[in-house]
Amino acid sequence: MKSTLAGIHHITAIAGDAQRNYAFYTQVLGLRLVKKTVNFDDPGTYHFYFGDEAGNPGTILTFFPWAHVRRGLRGAGQATETSFSVPSGSFDWWMARFEEHNVIYNKPSHRLGEDYLVFVDPDGLKLELVADDTDTRKPWTGGGIPADKAIRGFHGVTLTVNDEKGTARLLTEIFDFQATKSHGHRYRFEAGRGAFADKIDLVVLPHEQQGIVAGGSVHHVAFRVPDYDTQMVLREEIASAGYGITGQIDRQYFKSLYFREDAGVLFEIATDIPGFATDESLDQLGHGLMLPPQYESRRADIERVLPPLEA
Ligand code: ZN
Repeated sequence: MKSTLAGIHHITAIAGDAQRNYAFYTQVLGLRLVKKTVNFDDPGTYHFYFGDEAGNPGTILTFFPWAHVRRGLRGAGQATETSFSVPSGSFDWWMARFEEHNVIYNKPSHRLGEDYLVFVDPDGLKLELVADDTDTRKPWTGGGIPADKAIRGFHGVTLTVNDEKGTARLLTEIFDFQATKSHGHRYRFEAGRGAFADKIDLVVLPHEQQGIVAGGSVHHVAFRVPDYDTQMVLREEIASAGYGITGQIDRQYFKSLYFREDAGVLFEIATDIPGFATDESLDQLGHGLMLPPQYESRRADIERVLPPLEA
């Protein structure tokens, strides 16, 4: 069977100070905090999910904030650029906002037929705004960004690799993405199944040193499947191709599989279901500290060690 992967589900990165991370994504970029929970593998640490109103797949950037984390190193075997789509004509407004908030950015540039604006978050995570008027997703405007400027969700992600062959084979033969465009060392692959956030660029730099995943770097990229059965069919295909892939892990808001692709990037396959409005209503998303059942009995201890957040 051919894959039904529609594109990116979420991207997870590592941050330093929790308050600074929360303020940047909600107040400067105007994303919605759709879930405040803990790292299920390290419950003394927050796990923040930022996205659109409902935290729809393809809009969710998540963080593990560790207060004293060292900086990572951007390099090969990593997701090195995370791109959001915004309406064309909004870059001047965004640059003025970046000036106002002391955000480091480059002047807008153009590649693969698209205008883009590079900037970095307070931990040095490299981000981009890409002008894309074909993106019809409804933006979250509760963060104070006007609708004609606001982030729609992910546009795509760039992986830097020493050698593209294994990654390209995985994307085209198992994920059923199409190679669509290239320029210089950059090769674009797209799912093309009508979902947004479906663009994966490979930047091929044979001599780039391997990146170090720590503060200010992406930890993993999750791709979306509609449901649990589809996920397990895909798991068989990935395992049959020789990848060491985990079993289905319950992440409360989706179920996940993890494996490392050939160039070294950690990939996840995550389900669209059940979503974030399972333990909080849509209008209350992100308000409470939500814990999975296995940690509820330790809530008082967990709340004591997590740093308080100011809105
Ligand atoms: Zn994940």
